[in-house]
Parts: sequence; structure tokens; C-alpha cells
Amino acid sequence: MALTSSSLSRRGFVQILGAGAAAAVVRPQWPAALAQLPATASGIVRLSSNENPYGPSTAAFDAMRKSFDLVWRYPDEEVDALTADLAKLHGVAGEQVLLGAGSSQILKIAAAAFTGPGKPLVMAEPTFEAIGRYAQAAGAEVVKVPLTADYRHDLERMLPAGAGLIYICNPNNPTASLTPKAEVRAFLDRLPAGTRVLIDEAYFHYAESGDYESVIPQIKDRPNLIVARTFSKVYGMAGLRCGYAVAQPETIRLLLAQHVWDNVNIMACTAARASLGDSAHVERSRRLNRETRAYVRSGLEGMGYKVIPSETNFLMADLRRDVGSVIDALKQRNVEPGRRFPAMPNYLRVTIGTRPQMEAFLGALRTAVA
Ligand code: PLP
Repeated sequence: MALTSSSLSRRGFVQILGAGAAAAVVRPQWPAALAQLPATASGIVRLSSNENPYGPSTAAFDAMRKSFDLVWRYPDEEVDALTADLAKLHGVAGEQVLLGAGSSQILKIAAAAFTGPGKPLVMAEPTFEAIGRYAQAAGAEVVKVPLTADYRHDLERMLPAGAGLIYICNPNNPTASLTPKAEVRAFLDRLPAGTRVLIDEAYFHYAESGDYESVIPQIKDRPNLIVARTFSKVYGMAGLRCGYAVAQPETIRLLLAQHVWDNVNIMACTAARASLGDSAHVERSRRLNRETRAYVRSGLEGMGYKVIPSETNFLMADLRRDVGSVIDALKQRNVEPGRRFPAMPNYLRVTIGTRPQMEAFLGALRTAVA
């Protein structure tokens, strides 16, 4: 698998833009963000990593403040409490939930547990690349299967004999597209006993199509299934690092063998628990994302570009030219879009920020491509 230096440092815009510029990044806070978010005047419009521009719930901030004086000790109680909350939320036993320092760590642990020499990883192309790198580090062959022409996972072709782990990102990053629930179910029905499948539901909260479903309810019937979720997206906690896996107890036990002890910090646990209790924040974030996404889509279509229908908090547009130079031109205008994806070199991925941020993006894009 080809690894680019830009994918190695996809959040490393400090290196790209210089430390001074990074210090000026606009860090919106909820709810002030809605009223008075500056567009680009004083900082970079960061649309590169699919974060929630409205940040965490105020309840999460409060919970973090309250946990300041706990940080001298290890996070045992907080890990147990968050694990119990998640188990309750998903209707599973506590032994079926494993926390990670972000869902990236879950992907890393899964690659270590289930891939290696003679146990290939199968993944789509393009998709979220991280697990391919982790599998490679585990000595595994990485088999990449192109998405279909309409950006679904090509599940027919993702079932080679002998795979250790199959990674399905649904909705998919970077294309923002879904693989329909009936196809996923049929695929899971055919899964051979020795092969596990990890379904990455990082963008679950943003998907609204009737063709989409979480597969967590199917875990009780499917010993080979692992689901990864994260607090980095709709919950606005990317900097805190908290994600988790849900699977059957035996699979969790195998993941635990690769686990990093005390990996999730007290702040992240308390903020995550508070976030789970604030469904209004999730709803607001989804609604604002939906509205702003429609605005960006029509802006891009108005410029004559085709946009892949998005079920996430980002979208991809076909600029009909290699986007490398467009990305550079946007950065010069203080707008940081998603990286270039070698499998789709003409497509620009952009995170849906606030309305002012997206007005700045469209303005910068118009001048960048003029
Ligand atoms: N999975 C997908 C599909 C992602 O897009 C991302 C981040 O962009 C992650 C996982 C990793 O998220 P985190 O480690 O912050 O939970």
C-alpha cells in the first residue's frame, strides 16, 4: 500500500502552515460559534479533518472542569462508568465494550489482533487509510478493493478466502457515501468463520438515509463482527481522544490482548459520559450540518461541479482537475480543505464547518479556480 507523507500527517497542518499560522486557528465554542464566528479574517478556516465545528456539549465542558482535581489518579472508575453507559446505550453487556484513545486506537488494536503474516486486511479504495497502515505494521498484506462507480463498498469483491480482517467504513470517508444496509447484511451472512469484519461507524450520527443502519444490533448474532464508534465527530471531542469497540465477549477478549493499559484519560471519559446525556447538542449539530451542507452543495453545483451525495459532515466534489494545486491555492487563502486522495485525484473533500466558514470556503474556491 502506498503511504504518502501527507497522509502520515493529515492533522499536521502546523508543519504545512507554520506554527504562527496554527496559533491563529479559529476555535469556535458552542454556542457563541453560531452568533459570531469569524470567517477567515484572523485565522485559518479548518475544513480538513471532519471535526464538529460547534465543539463539545456545554455539559461536556462542565464535566471536564469538575474532573480537574481527579487527574492525579488512574482513570479506573471513569473507564468503568463510561463502559457501563455505553453498554446500556447499545443494549449489550459491559464485557462487549472496549474503550480506545480515539477509534483510531481501536483500529490499531484490531489490526494487531486479526491481521498479520498470512492474515490479510481487506479494505476499500479510497477509504479511511489508518487501518491499512496498522495492518502493514503487523506484517499483513493489504488488499484494496475499489469502491463501485456509485461509491459503495464492492462487497462482492471484498470476500477473498483467508482474509484476517475486512474493514468497512460506513458511511465512507472520504466519499461521504453509504453502503446500503441490505448489502451489508447479505455480506455479513456470507462471512467465513475465520474472518472478522470491522465496521467503522465514525459518521453514524450524520447518516439520515433510510438505506443506512448501524450494525450494532446485529452483534448478538454475529461473532465475527466488530463495530468502531468515536466521540471525535458529532460529539465534538476530537482533541480529547475517545472511541470504542462493540463486539461479542470473545472478540473483545482477543482485542484486549493487544490493548494499551489506562489508554483513555479521565477528562475524555467524563466529557464522553456527559455528551451521551446531551441529545439536544447532537440534534443541533446534525441540523446545522444538514443545512450548511445543502448550502455548500448548491454553491458547488452552481459553480458547475458534481457533488457526491453526502451522508456525513463533509462532502466531495469533482473539480475535473487535479486538486493538488487547488488545495495549495486554498491554503494560501487561509482555508484548509481535506487532503488529496490519490485514488480520486480530481475530487476535493471539504468538512462542513459553520455557515461563515463555508462562505469563506466558497469565496476562496471561486478565486482559486478562476
Ligand atoms: N474512522 C474514520 C472513518 C475517520 O474518518 C476517523 C477520523 O477522521 C477516524 C476513524 C478516527 O477518529 P478518532 O481516532 O478521532 O476516533
